[in-house]
Amino acid sequence: MNLKDIIAEIPDFPKKGILFRDISPVLRDPAALSLVVDELAKVIHPSEVDVFAGIESRGFPLACALALRYNKGMIMIRKQGKLPGVTHKVSYNIEYGTAVMEIQANALKKGQKVYICDDLLATGGTAKAAAKLVEKVGGQVSGFVFIIELTDLKGSKAIKDYKYNALVKY
Ligand code: 5GP
Repeated sequence: MNLKDIIAEIPDFPKKGILFRDISPVLRDPAALSLVVDELAKVIHPSEVDVFAGIESRGFPLACALALRYNKGMIMIRKQGKLPGVTHKVSYNIEYGTAVMEIQANALKKGQKVYICDDLLATGGTAKAAAKLVEKVGGQVSGFVFIIELTDLKGSKAIKDYKYNALVKY
């Protein structure tokens, strides 16, 4: 099975000129979903992880599937204004302007090892912001996993201090 055959390509989304890589068909295909979890599990040693973190929104199902596989929990890193209670924020650059992501202040215990999950690595701004948030609340980032990496956008540079893996590269 080739994941590239299953990932959908949607032209002009969310705006004209962008080719959006959509993992929805992977999530709804049991064989493809198992393949993704099996392949990502090959690169994560159990000793490296106490908690999986999912980046809103397509990182959530990945983090949760891996958490179940490793018998660990998962935490959410969300866009501003979605998480209740006390939160920490990090702002980061997006194409036009800045965006803010949040984590709950009590999401982690000090020193917990965290694997951060998202569907796609582009410029790496989102992933780097997620790592900062994990570290702000006392976690230790063990690495990142993605389904897709858009290599031209050089996101690996933004997260060069961390281990990362992506299953499919464009
Ligand atoms: P970055 O911060 O690395 O530039 O962008 C990555 C973030 O944007 C990820 O959270 C990802 O979900 C989203 N993203 C950007 N482009 C695409 C795309 O073509 N497909 C999908 N599925 N997500 C994208």
